Amino acid sequence: MGEDAAQLLGVRREELRRVRGQTGDPALPRVLTQDVNLVVPKNRGSLFTAVWRPDRSPAVATDDTPGEFLLDHTRPYVLWGYADAADAFPADRLDALSGTDLQRLVLDRTAGWAPALRALIEGSDPTTVNAIRLRSATPVGAWETGPVTLLGDAIHNMTPMAGVGANTALRDAALLCRMLTEVEAGRMTLRPALHDYERQMRGHGFAAVRQSLRNARQTGSTNRVGRAAFRTMLRAIGAVPPLRRRMAAQLGQ
Ligand SMILES: Cc1cc2nc3c(=O)[nH]c(=O)nc-3n(C[C@H](O)[C@H](O)[C@H](O)COP(=O)(O)OP(=O)(O)OC[C@H]3O[C@@H](n4cnc5c(N)ncnc54)[C@H](O)[C@@H]3O)c2cc1C
Repeated sequence: MGEDAAQLLGVRREELRRVRGQTGDPALPRVLTQDVNLVVPKNRGSLFTAVWRPDRSPAVATDDTPGEFLLDHTRPYVLWGYADAADAFPADRLDALSGTDLQRLVLDRTAGWAPALRALIEGSDPTTVNAIRLRSATPVGAWETGPVTLLGDAIHNMTPMAGVGANTALRDAALLCRMLTEVEAGRMTLRPALHDYERQMRGHGFAAVRQSLRNARQTGSTNRVGRAAFRTMLRAIGAVPPLRRRMAAQLGQ
């Protein structure tokens, strides 16, 4: 694993209720209860918000949800994550901070931000707030292909700042599946098929790692010029749907 890129604080939820026939929260503006947002202020840090809406019947009845489950995914909620460079946090004691302490820390860091964003953080249940140390895998070259191979985070763990870790794991799985199908059909033998899988997987996997690390470093940077450029790019992507589609298509390329 490489260096810590940033810390993400407060993967948490603000439960949404039914308001006037819509899933929402009267205390929060619609943009926070309907959309995905990335807030990049001029000086440092960033805040990501997203909405979870369950679209399946729960496998576990809500009242019986085991205590060890971190989140109840059977009801809609808004989640937020505040990120900054690792050295912007009290690294030596971050793990010891309670959810309430972490919430207070994020509120301190976001003093002066839009009141709705602070209301989202402040209104959160502290038991759902926690700190995550972001790490990024160091790219590796080819190894001698054997009977065991790797996919997903086991080989190319990345920061969540590009939002493609799980997507890349699924891409690996689909590629491996295609290769094994070739073997099953007698068009390839096992070792060359696995070797080819590993070559392609390292290519797209570590491209995604580099992208997510660039984004994490951007988040942790205090360079005002770089942040201004990043904000301008995000605004353009948000305003121009073809740009947004192009960026999504390029993730992990
Ligand atoms: C805060 C955060 C936000 C993220 N957001 C996104 C996002 O928006 N989009 C996205 O694409 N990705 C996102 N990711 C990344 C994504 O979660 C991971 O990349 C993805 O889960 C990797 O899948 P995996 O199957 O490789 O590994 P995992 O999901 O880690 O699965 C490995 C499984 O193996 C189990 N296991 C481990 N050891 C053993 C053992 N010895 N025996 C049996 N079982 C074992 C583990 O318990 C685990 O269930 C995010 C990650 C974080 C931390």
